[in-house]
Amino acid sequence: MSTIFSKIIAGELPADIVYQDDLVTAFRDIHPQAPTHILIVPNKEIATVNDITTNDEAIAGRMLHVAKKLAQQEGIASDGYRLIINCNDHGGQEVYHLHLHLIGGRPLGRMLP
Ligand code: 5GP
Repeated sequence: MSTIFSKIIAGELPADIVYQDDLVTAFRDIHPQAPTHILIVPNKEIATVNDITTNDEAIAGRMLHVAKKLAQQEGIASDGYRLIINCNDHGGQEVYHLHLHLIGGRPLGRMLP
């Protein structure tokens, strides 16, 4: 079954898409935790970090590179930001389609509350 993120990537559900290429799509989180909160998602359905294979290394690298470029575009690169990937239950993952959170635009405090 298609994930909610696959439907966004396919244009079947609305989202504020800020970047798309052959490997990844980035769109603004529906419940932003900071002034900038963007999700960078592989176009291919990969459920969790645990499911990444050697064949997915280009996708994983692209996710990081796009995060860097979007941080610059958002004007938060020099002040700083946080990248988060939640994995499974203990990681607090809600959507089982791999995604990298790009969060910034205000001081974020320590890593964990
Ligand atoms: P997770 O906890 O899985 O790492 O994060 C899932 C994120 O997806 C949450 O921050 C949540 O707000 C976001 N999200 C869930 N459903 C939607 C949606 O339909 N559209 C958008 N833009 N974000 C969503």
